Amino acid sequence: MAPILSAPSVAVVGGGPAGLLAAQRLAEAGYPVTVFEAQPTVGRKFLVAGHGGFNLTNAEPLPDFSHRYGARQADFDRFLSHFTPTDLRQWLHSLGIETFVGTSGRVFPTDEYKPAQVLRAWLQRLAALGVQLRVRHRWLGFTPERALRLRDEATGQEFSVQPAATVLALGGASWVKTGSDGQWTSLLSAWGVTLEPFAPSNCGAEVAWSEFFRVKVGRAPLKNIALECGGQTVRGELLLTDYGVEGTPVYALTPPLRAALQTPQSALLYLNLKPDLTAEQLWQKLRAPRNGKSLAVYLEKTLRLGPPVPTLLRELAPAEAGASPESLAALLQRLPVPVTGLRPLDEAISTAGGVAWPEVDENLMLQKLPGVFVAGEMLDWEAPTGGYLLQGCLSTGAWVARGIQHWLRPQPA
Ligand SMILES: Cc1cc2nc3c(=O)[nH]c(=O)nc-3n(C[C@H](O)[C@H](O)[C@H](O)COP(=O)(O)OP(=O)(O)OC[C@H]3O[C@@H](n4cnc5c(N)ncnc54)[C@H](O)[C@@H]3O)c2cc1C
Repeated sequence: MAPILSAPSVAVVGGGPAGLLAAQRLAEAGYPVTVFEAQPTVGRKFLVAGHGGFNLTNAEPLPDFSHRYGARQADFDRFLSHFTPTDLRQWLHSLGIETFVGTSGRVFPTDEYKPAQVLRAWLQRLAALGVQLRVRHRWLGFTPERALRLRDEATGQEFSVQPAATVLALGGASWVKTGSDGQWTSLLSAWGVTLEPFAPSNCGAEVAWSEFFRVKVGRAPLKNIALECGGQTVRGELLLTDYGVEGTPVYALTPPLRAALQTPQSALLYLNLKPDLTAEQLWQKLRAPRNGKSLAVYLEKTLRLGPPVPTLLRELAPAEAGASPESLAALLQRLPVPVTGLRPLDEAISTAGGVAWPEVDENLMLQKLPGVFVAGEMLDWEAPTGGYLLQGCLSTGAWVARGIQHWLRPQPA
């Protein structure tokens, strides 16, 4: 190994949104910062996030916002209060990027700003602040003296640096092609850091459809439905696919679905195809005589439930289950969809698991590695889509920058 180089004051390892925001805040506070990124470019997952609508945060007010982080709500209360959704929008404004609030409170950049432009503006700001970006530099762990071991991927040369403080912002373990490969877990567990196993979050669910259903329905949306699992109900659009179901309501229900899949009972999603009607209203509508109409024609005429609903009912419920108006109404509002599993980790929008919470102090510094702070998706938290993921990553990035400033502040003699 080559000799130890002159140390940057703060090293940020991982050039995703969490790491880049920590770098910006530290550089603004006057620290020399170097970002080490294994890939040839930074922000690859940030750019992927922009493909299907670049949902940067959400306009939901704060107490409700932090509920989205489930068991970590109290921690995220602190992180979000320090770098709020409003701060995020103001930060974008300071980069010259305007935003607007879309449906369900989701915040997007206005049409003229593509994801690559947002990233470019951000990188220009980092350059102006003097942040050094070292791409193609993979972190390999720590030396026995706790210096950072790095490899220049272009030359294969290994070296080490001993910064005054380090931010690890290495991401989760999905979409490996963006660089979030989760390989860092062994580098931390070697130092006794406890890690929760990665699990897919915000992903599709698998259903063992019959061959007939797969061929007949293929991919089909079900608009304006509600989906329930584990006592949680989420409204939105469901997409039936050849492997099962996907869409915002399924993504949001991954935590209870994952829990249900770990029990011996079958994991069920309950589908409400008419969530705007009360059971009584639905039942009243279904009292209209069928007059020999097929179920498909009857559902279309009475409730405007066209294809693929009749095929879905046939697939998931025995014919007699909807024989009477009462039983049909009950079925339409609570159709059990048996889930056999979640989609593979690499396909997931985000991952649960990572650095266990008891391993970090209130500043997100690793208890076993003083001076090393962790931010972003590599911590064990999860949140639904809707802007909560990027906001969580950016708020934790800002939070560790704050923690490092405290850590590096000279102590009174
Ligand atoms: C398809 C898709 C759509 C999404 N859409 C949205 C959305 O609309 N809104 C939203 O809020 N969120 C969205 N997300 C989620 C969001 O992109 C992530 O939560 C966020 O990028 C995670 O940020 P991070 O900085 O923690 O990690 P990452 O962005 O994963 O960055 C981690 C970085 O660390 C680098 N790295 C890893 N190991 C090493 C190493 N050993 N040495 C050096 N570097 C290393 C990686 O190459 C990577 O660049 C989406 C995600 C996906 C996949």
